[in-house]
Amino acid sequence: MEDTIVGISSSLGIGAISIIRMSGKESFEIVNKIFTQNILNVDSHTIHYGHIKENNKLIDEVLVSVMKAPKTYTREDIIEINCHGGIITTNKILELLIKNGARLAEPGEFTKRAFLNGRIDLIEAEAIMDLINSKSESARKLAINGLSGNVTLMIENLRNKISKILSNIEANIDYPEYEDILVMTKELIKKEIIIIEAEINKIIKESENSKIIKNGIDTVILGKPNVGKSSLLNKLIGEEKAIVTNIPGTTRDFVEGTIVIDSVLFNIFDTAGIRETHNKIEQIGVSKSINLINTSDVVILVFDNNRKIQKEDMQLLNLTKDKKRIIVINKIDLESKLDKKLLSGDIVEISALNNNIKPLKDKLIEMFNIDSINKKDPNYLFNTRQISTLKKTLNNILELKKGIKNNLPVDILEIDIMEIWKLLGEIIGKNYNEELVEEIFKNFCLGK
Ligand code: GDP
Repeated sequence: MEDTIVGISSSLGIGAISIIRMSGKESFEIVNKIFTQNILNVDSHTIHYGHIKENNKLIDEVLVSVMKAPKTYTREDIIEINCHGGIITTNKILELLIKNGARLAEPGEFTKRAFLNGRIDLIEAEAIMDLINSKSESARKLAINGLSGNVTLMIENLRNKISKILSNIEANIDYPEYEDILVMTKELIKKEIIIIEAEINKIIKESENSKIIKNGIDTVILGKPNVGKSSLLNKLIGEEKAIVTNIPGTTRDFVEGTIVIDSVLFNIFDTAGIRETHNKIEQIGVSKSINLINTSDVVILVFDNNRKIQKEDMQLLNLTKDKKRIIVINKIDLESKLDKKLLSGDIVEISALNNNIKPLKDKLIEMFNIDSINKKDPNYLFNTRQISTLKKTLNNILELKKGIKNNLPVDILEIDIMEIWKLLGEIIGKNYNEELVEEIFKNFCLGK
Protein backbone atom coordinates (compact mmCIF):
# COMPACT_ATOMS: atom_id res chain seq x y z
CA MET A 1 0.00 0.00 0.00
CA GLU A 2 2.93 2.28 -0.65
CA ASP A 3 1.64 3.80 -3.83
CA THR A 4 -0.89 6.56 -4.24
CA ILE A 5 -4.07 5.55 -6.01
CA VAL A 6 -6.55 7.62 -7.96
CA GLY A 7 -9.99 6.95 -9.38
CA ILE A 8 -13.14 8.65 -10.56
CA SER A 9 -15.67 8.30 -7.75
CA SER A 10 -18.73 9.74 -9.42
CA SER A 11 -20.45 7.93 -12.27
CA LEU A 12 -18.96 8.63 -15.65
CA GLY A 13 -21.36 10.54 -17.80
CA ILE A 14 -22.71 14.01 -18.21
CA GLY A 15 -23.43 15.62 -14.88
CA ALA A 16 -22.84 18.93 -13.15
CA ILE A 17 -19.91 17.74 -11.06
CA SER A 18 -17.45 14.84 -11.15
CA ILE A 19 -15.38 13.69 -8.21
CA ILE A 20 -11.86 12.37 -8.55
CA ARG A 21 -10.41 10.79 -5.46
CA MET A 22 -6.77 10.12 -4.61
CA SER A 23 -5.44 8.24 -1.59
CA GLY A 24 -1.90 7.64 -0.36
CA LYS A 25 1.25 9.28 0.92
CA GLU A 26 1.91 11.40 -2.14
CA SER A 27 -1.64 12.64 -2.71
CA PHE A 28 -0.92 16.21 -1.58
CA GLU A 29 2.34 16.55 -3.52
CA ILE A 30 0.82 15.17 -6.69
CA VAL A 31 -2.15 17.51 -6.68
CA ASN A 32 0.09 20.41 -5.75
CA LYS A 33 1.95 19.98 -9.04
CA ILE A 34 -1.14 20.73 -11.12
CA PHE A 35 -3.21 22.97 -8.83
CA THR A 36 -2.90 26.75 -8.67
CA GLN A 37 -3.14 26.85 -4.84
CA ASN A 38 -0.50 25.47 -2.53
CA ILE A 39 -2.23 22.89 -0.37
CA LEU A 40 0.84 21.42 1.32
CA ASN A 41 0.43 23.26 4.62
CA VAL A 42 -3.31 23.76 4.84
CA ASP A 43 -5.49 22.39 7.64
CA SER A 44 -7.06 18.99 7.32
CA HIS A 45 -10.65 18.71 6.10
CA THR A 46 -10.62 22.02 4.24
CA ILE A 47 -11.78 22.87 0.74
CA HIS A 48 -9.76 25.02 -1.69
CA TYR A 49 -10.89 26.83 -4.79
CA GLY A 50 -8.51 27.08 -7.74
CA HIS A 51 -7.56 25.85 -11.19
CA ILE A 52 -6.02 22.72 -12.59
CA LYS A 53 -3.36 23.57 -15.13
CA GLU A 54 -1.13 21.62 -17.49
CA ASN A 55 1.92 23.51 -18.79
CA ASN A 56 0.21 26.72 -17.78
CA LYS A 57 -2.85 25.86 -19.84
CA LEU A 58 -6.15 25.95 -17.99
CA ILE A 59 -7.83 22.55 -17.74
CA ASP A 60 -10.67 23.27 -15.29
CA GLU A 61 -11.90 25.35 -12.40
CA VAL A 62 -12.16 23.05 -9.37
CA LEU A 63 -12.63 22.61 -5.63
CA VAL A 64 -9.99 20.50 -3.90
CA SER A 65 -10.79 18.86 -0.55
CA VAL A 66 -7.79 18.06 1.61
CA MET A 67 -8.22 15.30 4.18
CA LYS A 68 -5.24 14.23 6.23
CA ALA A 69 -4.72 10.75 7.66
CA PRO A 70 -5.95 9.11 9.77
CA LYS A 71 -9.47 10.57 9.88
CA THR A 72 -10.30 9.65 6.29
CA TYR A 73 -12.14 6.93 4.35
CA THR A 74 -8.94 4.93 3.81
CA ARG A 75 -7.05 6.22 6.87
CA GLU A 76 -4.51 7.62 4.41
CA ASP A 77 -4.07 11.16 3.07
CA ILE A 78 -6.95 11.81 0.70
CA ILE A 79 -7.59 14.43 -1.95
CA GLU A 80 -10.93 14.87 -3.61
CA ILE A 81 -11.23 17.07 -6.66
CA ASN A 82 -14.67 18.35 -7.62
CA CYS A 83 -14.42 19.29 -11.28
CA HIS A 84 -16.97 20.09 -13.92
CA GLY A 85 -18.85 16.99 -15.02
CA GLY A 86 -18.33 15.32 -18.34
CA ILE A 87 -16.15 12.49 -19.47
CA ILE A 88 -13.44 14.50 -21.24
CA THR A 89 -12.60 16.92 -18.42
CA THR A 90 -12.76 14.24 -15.74
CA ASN A 91 -10.53 11.87 -17.69
CA LYS A 92 -8.10 14.67 -18.48
CA ILE A 93 -7.60 15.46 -14.79
CA LEU A 94 -7.32 11.76 -13.97
CA GLU A 95 -4.65 11.40 -16.66
CA LEU A 96 -2.74 14.38 -15.28
CA LEU A 97 -2.72 12.92 -11.77
CA ILE A 98 -1.45 9.60 -13.14
CA LYS A 99 1.21 11.40 -15.16
CA ASN A 100 2.36 13.07 -11.95
CA GLY A 101 2.77 9.89 -9.96
CA ALA A 102 -0.55 8.35 -8.98
CA ARG A 103 -1.68 4.89 -10.06
CA LEU A 104 -5.17 4.09 -11.33
CA ALA A 105 -7.07 2.39 -8.50
CA GLU A 106 -8.49 -1.07 -8.98
CA PRO A 107 -12.21 -1.60 -8.37
CA GLY A 108 -12.91 -1.32 -4.66
CA GLU A 109 -9.32 -0.45 -3.81
CA PHE A 110 -10.19 2.57 -1.66
CA THR A 111 -12.53 0.44 0.44
CA LYS A 112 -9.98 -2.38 0.49
CA ARG A 113 -7.47 0.05 1.99
CA ALA A 114 -10.06 1.14 4.55
CA PHE A 115 -10.36 -2.54 5.48
CA LEU A 116 -6.64 -3.34 5.46
CA ASN A 117 -5.92 -0.21 7.51
CA GLY A 118 -8.48 -1.35 10.08
CA ARG A 119 -11.06 1.40 9.64
CA ILE A 120 -13.86 -0.96 8.65
CA ASP A 121 -14.35 -4.71 8.95
CA LEU A 122 -15.24 -7.08 6.16
CA ILE A 123 -18.93 -6.91 6.93
CA GLU A 124 -18.95 -3.14 6.61
CA ALA A 125 -16.96 -3.34 3.38
CA GLU A 126 -19.49 -5.74 1.89
CA ALA A 127 -22.30 -3.55 3.14
CA ILE A 128 -20.87 -0.51 1.37
CA MET A 129 -20.86 -2.44 -1.90
CA ASP A 130 -24.35 -3.78 -1.30
CA LEU A 131 -25.61 -0.31 -0.52
CA ILE A 132 -24.26 1.04 -3.79
CA ASN A 133 -25.77 -1.87 -5.71
CA SER A 134 -29.10 -2.09 -3.94
CA LYS A 135 -32.04 -1.92 -6.30
CA SER A 136 -34.89 -2.26 -3.83
CA GLU A 137 -35.83 -0.90 -0.44
CA SER A 138 -35.37 -4.27 1.24
CA ALA A 139 -31.89 -4.66 -0.30
CA ARG A 140 -31.01 -1.22 1.04
CA LYS A 141 -32.16 -2.26 4.52
CA LEU A 142 -30.02 -5.40 4.34
CA ALA A 143 -26.97 -3.34 3.40
CA ILE A 144 -27.48 -0.63 5.97
CA ASN A 145 -27.80 -3.28 8.66
CA GLY A 146 -24.30 -4.50 7.83
CA LEU A 147 -23.01 -0.94 7.87
CA SER A 148 -24.61 -0.15 11.21
CA GLY A 149 -22.38 -2.67 12.94
CA ASN A 150 -25.24 -4.92 14.09
CA VAL A 151 -23.94 -7.95 12.25
CA THR A 152 -20.42 -7.42 13.55
CA LEU A 153 -21.73 -7.03 17.09
CA MET A 154 -23.64 -10.30 16.96
CA ILE A 155 -20.62 -12.18 15.66
CA GLU A 156 -18.36 -10.52 18.23
CA ASN A 157 -20.72 -11.60 21.00
CA LEU A 158 -20.57 -15.20 19.81
CA ARG A 159 -16.79 -14.99 19.56
CA ASN A 160 -16.52 -13.60 23.06
CA LYS A 161 -18.52 -16.51 24.43
CA ILE A 162 -16.21 -18.94 22.67
CA SER A 163 -13.04 -17.22 23.70
CA LYS A 164 -14.19 -17.41 27.32
CA ILE A 165 -14.52 -21.18 26.98
CA LEU A 166 -11.10 -21.36 25.31
CA SER A 167 -9.35 -19.25 27.90
CA ASN A 168 -10.86 -21.28 30.71
CA ILE A 169 -9.68 -24.52 29.11
CA GLU A 170 -6.19 -23.06 28.68
CA ALA A 171 -6.14 -21.85 32.29
CA ASN A 172 -7.25 -25.28 33.51
CA ILE A 173 -4.41 -26.90 31.55
CA ASP A 174 -1.73 -24.36 32.52
CA TYR A 175 -2.72 -23.85 36.17
CA PRO A 176 -4.38 -27.04 37.36
CA GLU A 177 -3.57 -26.09 40.96
CA TYR A 178 -5.67 -22.88 40.95
CA GLU A 179 -8.99 -23.64 42.46
CA ASP A 180 -10.68 -20.34 41.77
CA ILE A 181 -10.64 -20.84 37.96
CA LEU A 182 -13.84 -22.36 36.62
CA VAL A 183 -13.12 -25.93 35.54
CA MET A 184 -14.34 -26.35 31.98
CA THR A 185 -15.94 -29.75 32.17
CA LYS A 186 -17.47 -31.38 29.13
CA GLU A 187 -20.90 -30.71 30.60
CA LEU A 188 -20.15 -27.00 30.86
CA ILE A 189 -18.75 -26.89 27.32
CA LYS A 190 -21.86 -28.63 26.08
CA LYS A 191 -24.14 -26.23 27.91
CA GLU A 192 -22.38 -23.19 26.42
CA ILE A 193 -22.11 -24.61 22.93
CA ILE A 194 -25.82 -25.41 22.80
CA ILE A 195 -26.60 -21.76 23.50
CA ILE A 196 -24.19 -20.67 20.76
CA GLU A 197 -25.64 -23.20 18.33
CA ALA A 198 -29.16 -21.93 18.99
CA GLU A 199 -28.08 -18.35 18.27
CA ILE A 200 -26.39 -19.35 15.02
CA ASN A 201 -29.45 -21.30 13.96
CA LYS A 202 -31.65 -18.31 14.69
CA ILE A 203 -29.48 -16.04 12.52
CA ILE A 204 -29.51 -18.57 9.67
CA LYS A 205 -33.26 -18.96 9.86
CA GLU A 206 -33.98 -15.24 10.00
CA SER A 207 -31.60 -14.58 7.11
CA GLU A 208 -32.95 -17.20 4.78
CA ASN A 209 -34.44 -14.57 2.54
CA SER A 210 -31.34 -12.44 2.29
CA LYS A 211 -30.32 -13.94 -1.06
CA ILE A 212 -33.71 -13.02 -2.41
CA ILE A 213 -33.55 -9.57 -0.84
CA LYS A 214 -30.11 -8.81 -2.21
CA ASN A 215 -30.26 -10.41 -5.65
CA GLY A 216 -33.97 -10.45 -6.34
CA ILE A 217 -36.25 -13.31 -7.36
CA ASP A 218 -35.36 -14.79 -10.74
CA THR A 219 -38.67 -15.15 -12.52
CA VAL A 220 -39.18 -16.86 -15.86
CA ILE A 221 -42.25 -16.17 -17.98
CA LEU A 222 -43.06 -19.20 -20.07
CA GLY A 223 -45.85 -20.20 -22.46
CA LYS A 224 -46.49 -21.06 -26.05
CA PRO A 225 -46.62 -18.25 -28.64
CA ASN A 226 -49.54 -15.84 -28.47
CA VAL A 227 -50.73 -16.64 -24.96
CA GLY A 228 -49.84 -13.08 -23.95
CA LYS A 229 -46.37 -13.33 -22.39
CA SER A 230 -45.11 -10.06 -23.85
CA SER A 231 -48.33 -8.29 -22.93
CA LEU A 232 -48.02 -9.54 -19.36
CA LEU A 233 -44.38 -8.53 -19.20
CA ASN A 234 -45.17 -5.06 -20.49
CA LYS A 235 -47.96 -4.65 -17.97
CA LEU A 236 -45.75 -5.78 -15.11
CA ILE A 237 -42.94 -3.51 -16.15
CA GLY A 238 -45.32 -0.68 -16.86
CA GLU A 239 -47.05 -0.86 -13.50
CA GLU A 240 -44.01 -1.54 -11.37
CA LYS A 241 -41.44 0.96 -12.43
CA ALA A 242 -38.71 -0.82 -14.37
CA ILE A 243 -35.25 -0.19 -13.03
CA VAL A 244 -33.12 -1.71 -15.75
CA THR A 245 -34.15 -3.33 -18.96
CA ASN A 246 -30.85 -5.03 -19.49
CA ILE A 247 -28.03 -6.18 -17.29
CA PRO A 248 -24.91 -5.75 -19.36
CA GLY A 249 -21.97 -8.02 -18.90
CA THR A 250 -23.94 -10.94 -17.54
CA THR A 251 -24.67 -14.15 -19.36
CA ARG A 252 -28.35 -13.67 -18.74
CA ASP A 253 -29.15 -12.80 -22.32
CA PHE A 254 -32.84 -13.14 -21.70
CA VAL A 255 -33.36 -10.64 -18.92
CA GLU A 256 -36.22 -8.42 -19.91
CA GLY A 257 -36.57 -6.21 -16.93
CA THR A 258 -36.26 -5.77 -13.22
CA ILE A 259 -39.29 -4.77 -11.24
CA VAL A 260 -39.99 -4.15 -7.59
CA ILE A 261 -43.15 -5.53 -6.01
CA ASP A 262 -43.68 -4.51 -2.39
CA SER A 263 -40.01 -3.53 -2.00
CA VAL A 264 -38.70 -6.86 -3.28
CA LEU A 265 -36.87 -7.18 -6.58
CA PHE A 266 -38.00 -9.53 -9.37
CA ASN A 267 -35.67 -10.19 -12.31
CA ILE A 268 -37.92 -11.14 -15.18
CA PHE A 269 -36.58 -13.44 -17.88
CA ASP A 270 -38.06 -14.12 -21.26
CA THR A 271 -37.91 -17.55 -22.86
CA ALA A 272 -38.99 -16.85 -26.40
CA GLY A 273 -36.65 -19.59 -27.56
CA ILE A 274 -38.44 -22.58 -26.09
CA ARG A 275 -39.91 -24.81 -28.74
CA GLU A 276 -38.81 -28.01 -30.38
CA THR A 277 -36.51 -27.13 -33.20
CA HIS A 278 -33.85 -28.50 -35.47
CA ASN A 279 -32.39 -25.15 -36.31
CA LYS A 280 -28.93 -24.88 -34.71
CA ILE A 281 -29.21 -21.30 -33.51
CA GLU A 282 -32.66 -21.89 -32.10
CA GLN A 283 -31.41 -25.00 -30.36
CA ILE A 284 -28.88 -22.91 -28.49
CA GLY A 285 -31.75 -20.66 -27.47
CA VAL A 286 -33.76 -23.64 -26.29
CA SER A 287 -30.99 -25.10 -24.16
CA LYS A 288 -30.38 -21.68 -22.64
CA SER A 289 -34.06 -21.38 -21.84
CA ILE A 290 -34.11 -24.78 -20.19
CA ASN A 291 -31.11 -23.72 -18.18
CA LEU A 292 -32.94 -20.59 -17.21
CA ILE A 293 -35.92 -22.60 -15.99
CA ASN A 294 -33.64 -24.78 -13.90
CA THR A 295 -31.85 -21.89 -12.22
CA SER A 296 -34.88 -19.65 -11.73
CA ASP A 297 -36.65 -19.15 -8.41
CA VAL A 298 -40.12 -19.25 -9.94
CA VAL A 299 -41.73 -20.01 -13.28
CA ILE A 300 -44.81 -18.16 -14.49
CA LEU A 301 -46.46 -20.49 -17.00
CA VAL A 302 -49.02 -18.67 -19.12
CA PHE A 303 -52.08 -20.26 -20.78
CA ASP A 304 -54.64 -18.75 -23.14
CA ASN A 305 -58.14 -18.91 -21.66
CA ASN A 306 -59.58 -18.74 -25.16
CA ARG A 307 -57.83 -21.85 -26.52
CA LYS A 308 -57.87 -25.52 -25.76
CA ILE A 309 -54.82 -27.02 -24.10
CA GLN A 310 -52.40 -28.27 -26.72
CA LYS A 311 -49.47 -30.65 -26.85
CA GLU A 312 -47.02 -27.78 -26.37
CA ASP A 313 -48.84 -26.64 -23.23
CA MET A 314 -48.56 -30.15 -21.81
CA GLN A 315 -44.86 -30.26 -22.61
CA LEU A 316 -44.30 -27.01 -20.76
CA LEU A 317 -46.32 -28.28 -17.81
CA ASN A 318 -44.17 -31.36 -17.73
CA LEU A 319 -40.93 -29.43 -18.10
CA THR A 320 -41.73 -27.29 -15.07
CA LYS A 321 -43.53 -29.81 -12.88
CA ASP A 322 -40.84 -29.80 -10.19
CA LYS A 323 -40.37 -26.04 -10.11
CA LYS A 324 -41.96 -23.43 -7.92
CA ARG A 325 -44.61 -22.40 -10.41
CA ILE A 326 -47.57 -20.13 -10.93
CA ILE A 327 -50.02 -21.12 -13.63
CA VAL A 328 -51.47 -18.00 -15.19
CA ILE A 329 -54.68 -18.21 -17.18
CA ASN A 330 -54.59 -15.11 -19.34
CA LYS A 331 -57.30 -13.52 -21.49
CA ILE A 332 -60.13 -14.12 -19.03
CA ASP A 333 -61.95 -11.31 -20.81
CA LEU A 334 -62.51 -13.81 -23.64
CA GLU A 335 -64.73 -16.89 -23.74
CA SER A 336 -63.26 -19.80 -21.78
CA LYS A 337 -62.26 -22.77 -23.92
CA LEU A 338 -59.39 -23.95 -21.73
CA ASP A 339 -59.81 -27.27 -19.97
CA LYS A 340 -58.95 -26.04 -16.47
CA LYS A 341 -59.37 -29.50 -15.00
CA LEU A 342 -56.02 -30.45 -16.54
CA LEU A 343 -54.32 -27.75 -14.49
CA SER A 344 -53.45 -27.89 -10.82
CA GLY A 345 -51.31 -26.10 -8.27
CA ASP A 346 -51.11 -22.34 -7.84
CA ILE A 347 -53.44 -20.92 -10.48
CA VAL A 348 -54.38 -17.30 -11.09
CA GLU A 349 -56.68 -15.79 -13.68
CA ILE A 350 -55.78 -12.50 -15.32
CA SER A 351 -56.26 -10.33 -18.33
CA ALA A 352 -53.07 -8.65 -19.44
CA LEU A 353 -55.03 -6.69 -22.01
CA ASN A 354 -57.46 -5.23 -19.48
CA ASN A 355 -54.78 -4.41 -16.93
CA ASN A 356 -56.07 -7.04 -14.57
CA ILE A 357 -52.84 -8.60 -13.31
CA LYS A 358 -53.27 -8.05 -9.58
CA PRO A 359 -54.03 -11.73 -8.83
CA LEU A 360 -50.59 -12.64 -10.17
CA LYS A 361 -48.83 -10.03 -8.06
CA ASP A 362 -50.75 -11.11 -4.98
CA LYS A 363 -49.75 -14.71 -5.62
CA LEU A 364 -46.06 -13.73 -5.90
CA ILE A 365 -46.29 -11.80 -2.65
CA GLU A 366 -47.92 -14.79 -0.94
CA MET A 367 -45.56 -17.37 -2.46
CA PHE A 368 -42.40 -15.59 -1.32
CA ASN A 369 -43.82 -14.46 1.95
CA ILE A 370 -42.95 -10.90 1.07
CA ASP A 371 -45.07 -9.47 3.85
CA SER A 372 -42.93 -11.27 6.36
CA ILE A 373 -39.70 -10.21 4.62
CA ASN A 374 -40.78 -6.62 5.06
CA LYS A 375 -41.68 -7.16 8.70
CA LYS A 376 -38.50 -9.10 9.59
CA ASP A 377 -36.18 -7.83 12.26
CA PRO A 378 -33.47 -6.27 10.10
CA ASN A 379 -30.89 -6.92 12.82
CA TYR A 380 -30.84 -10.51 11.70
CA LEU A 381 -30.18 -9.91 8.03
CA PHE A 382 -26.84 -11.50 7.22
CA ASN A 383 -25.66 -11.85 3.63
CA THR A 384 -25.05 -15.08 1.72
CA ARG A 385 -21.30 -15.28 2.37
CA GLN A 386 -21.79 -14.68 6.07
CA ILE A 387 -24.52 -17.32 6.23
CA SER A 388 -22.47 -19.93 4.39
CA THR A 389 -19.62 -19.46 6.87
CA LEU A 390 -22.06 -19.69 9.77
CA LYS A 391 -23.26 -22.99 8.32
CA LYS A 392 -19.67 -24.25 8.37
CA THR A 393 -19.47 -23.47 12.07
CA LEU A 394 -22.51 -25.69 12.60
CA ASN A 395 -20.51 -28.64 11.20
CA ASN A 396 -17.81 -28.02 13.78
CA ILE A 397 -20.40 -27.70 16.51
CA LEU A 398 -21.76 -31.08 15.42
CA GLU A 399 -18.28 -32.59 15.59
CA LEU A 400 -17.75 -31.04 19.00
CA LYS A 401 -20.98 -32.48 20.33
CA LYS A 402 -20.01 -35.90 18.98
CA GLY A 403 -16.62 -35.57 20.69
CA ILE A 404 -18.30 -34.73 23.99
CA LYS A 405 -20.62 -37.71 23.61
CA ASN A 406 -17.64 -39.98 22.88
CA ASN A 407 -15.91 -38.67 25.96
CA LEU A 408 -12.87 -37.24 24.15
CA PRO A 409 -10.44 -35.31 26.35
CA VAL A 410 -11.01 -31.56 26.66
CA ASP A 411 -7.77 -30.64 24.88
CA ILE A 412 -8.98 -32.56 21.80
CA LEU A 413 -12.38 -30.85 21.99
CA GLU A 414 -10.52 -27.57 22.08
CA ILE A 415 -9.50 -28.06 18.42
CA ASP A 416 -13.10 -27.82 17.22
CA ILE A 417 -13.86 -24.94 19.55
CA MET A 418 -10.85 -23.09 18.13
CA GLU A 419 -12.07 -23.79 14.59
CA ILE A 420 -15.51 -22.32 15.39
CA TRP A 421 -13.82 -19.22 16.79
CA LYS A 422 -11.68 -18.86 13.66
CA LEU A 423 -14.62 -19.29 11.29
CA LEU A 424 -16.59 -16.62 13.12
CA GLY A 425 -13.54 -14.38 12.81
CA GLU A 426 -13.50 -15.01 9.07
CA ILE A 427 -16.99 -13.55 8.80
CA ILE A 428 -15.91 -10.17 10.11
CA GLY A 429 -12.52 -10.30 8.43
CA LYS A 430 -10.32 -11.13 11.39
CA ASN A 431 -7.90 -13.86 10.27
CA TYR A 432 -9.06 -13.34 6.67
CA ASN A 433 -7.51 -15.10 3.75
CA GLU A 434 -6.14 -13.12 0.79
CA GLU A 435 -8.25 -14.98 -1.75
CA LEU A 436 -11.50 -14.14 0.01
CA VAL A 437 -10.56 -10.49 0.28
CA GLU A 438 -9.62 -10.38 -3.44
CA GLU A 439 -12.94 -11.98 -4.31
CA ILE A 440 -14.97 -9.53 -2.27
CA PHE A 441 -13.28 -6.37 -3.46
CA LYS A 442 -13.10 -7.22 -7.14
CA ASN A 443 -16.88 -6.91 -7.28
CA PHE A 444 -16.76 -3.27 -6.27
CA CYS A 445 -17.14 -0.43 -8.74
CA LEU A 446 -14.19 1.71 -9.73
CA GLY A 447 -13.44 4.68 -7.54
CA LYS A 448 -14.95 3.21 -4.36
P1 GDP B 1 -46.81 -13.83 -26.62
O1 GDP B 1 -46.52 -14.38 -27.96
O2 GDP B 1 -47.10 -14.90 -25.64
O3 GDP B 1 -45.78 -12.88 -26.11
O4 GDP B 1 -48.20 -13.03 -26.74
P2 GDP B 1 -48.47 -11.47 -26.91
O5 GDP B 1 -48.30 -10.75 -25.66
O6 GDP B 1 -47.74 -10.99 -28.11
O7 GDP B 1 -50.03 -11.50 -27.20
C1 GDP B 1 -50.61 -12.19 -28.30
C2 GDP B 1 -51.93 -11.56 -28.61
O8 GDP B 1 -52.83 -11.73 -27.54
C3 GDP B 1 -51.84 -10.05 -28.84
O9 GDP B 1 -52.69 -9.71 -29.90
C4 GDP B 1 -52.36 -9.47 -27.54
O10 GDP B 1 -52.95 -8.20 -27.70
C5 GDP B 1 -53.38 -10.49 -27.12
N1 GDP B 1 -53.60 -10.51 -25.67
C6 GDP B 1 -52.68 -10.55 -24.71
N2 GDP B 1 -53.26 -10.57 -23.49
C7 GDP B 1 -54.58 -10.55 -23.70
C8 GDP B 1 -55.75 -10.54 -22.84
O11 GDP B 1 -55.67 -10.56 -21.61
N3 GDP B 1 -56.97 -10.52 -23.44
C9 GDP B 1 -57.11 -10.49 -24.80
N4 GDP B 1 -58.31 -10.45 -25.29
N5 GDP B 1 -56.04 -10.49 -25.62
C10 GDP B 1 -54.81 -10.51 -25.10
